[in-house]
Amino acid sequence: MEHVDILIIGAGPAGLTAAIYARRAGKSVLLLEKSAIGGQIASSPQVQNFPGLPSISGAELADRLFDQATALGARLELEEVLEIRDGDPKTVVTDYASYTCSALIFAAGMTHRSLGLPREDTLPGISFCAVCDGAFYAGKDTAVCGGGNTALQDALYLSGLCRQVTLIHRRGTFRGDPILVDTLRQRPNVSFALDTVIEELLGTDALTGLRLRSPGKTWDLPVSGLFQAVGQLPQTALISPLLPLDGAGFLSAGEDCRTSRPGIFAAGDCRAKSLRQLTTACADGSSAATAAVRYLEALSPDTPSVPVL
Ligand code: NAP
Repeated sequence: MEHVDILIIGAGPAGLTAAIYARRAGKSVLLLEKSAIGGQIASSPQVQNFPGLPSISGAELADRLFDQATALGARLELEEVLEIRDGDPKTVVTDYASYTCSALIFAAGMTHRSLGLPREDTLPGISFCAVCDGAFYAGKDTAVCGGGNTALQDALYLSGLCRQVTLIHRRGTFRGDPILVDTLRQRPNVSFALDTVIEELLGTDALTGLRLRSPGKTWDLPVSGLFQAVGQLPQTALISPLLPLDGAGFLSAGEDCRTSRPGIFAAGDCRAKSLRQLTTACADGSSAATAAVRYLEALSPDTPSVPVL
């Protein structure tokens, strides 16, 4: 069974940053990712709040982080982790192989929350990713549901492709950045359905419309596509047998990302914290890797790391 110093679960910004720091400290690093390299950021049309990069697509930023980590010698495998066993060493079982590691960084991030409407998993026309699926709706009418930055950015992106975009939000004010709301208000093909919820998906073989409800009225909005952007849920089920979760499913760990289990660190959006942003995910990655390196050095004080410069 292959052994590495530090095994990182999740190749989003937190995991990739952890890999960069761990490799620069001379540790062997394996990253395991079950779906998209870059995590959620890979499907962000445009990132405008990463210091030093005023405007970059999420996919390009993910590519750059990946290139930086692998150029330093981190290895990435596209495998889904099925089980984590604590011990000395720790064991990680995937759908393809098993690995052992001296330290583990859990950076599995979050997954899409869904609206829970009947048929939303089976009816063609429902998507969670405007960048991935927007082109299918070029020239058509679509709707985005949500009031955070993802919904605002998705609506902005779709307004460049679709004939009409309706932004449906359950409240009258947005959680996302005012600058994005202002930009959207200037788009002639974007309309707002505020204080409005989706009651029903319409259509037999594919989505043809949405039944909407706002105070005092119910009406049908014809659309070919619905983009759900109603937030995220932490992907922590895998580690829950080993570590306690808070009421919302997040992992408790201090600022240095240490958990209550020696040698297991939590980084990025799956950690309980007050601000989940790209920058805080990267900050967690660097903190977790630094703490993991210190943990390994305390375990084997006679084998100093050889930094990669
Ligand atoms: P979010 O900020 O949590 O927003 C989720 C939105 O969905 C909220 O407006 C919420 O409404 C709504 N919602 C939740 N459950 C709902 C339900 N059952 N029915 C209808 N609406 C529902 O999620 P996010 O937009 O995915 O953003 C997640 C984090 O990533 C945020 O911190 C965000 O700033 C960040 N982000 C950053 C970038 C970037 O470019 N840097 C891009 C995207 C996202 P209420 O407001 O009423 O609760």
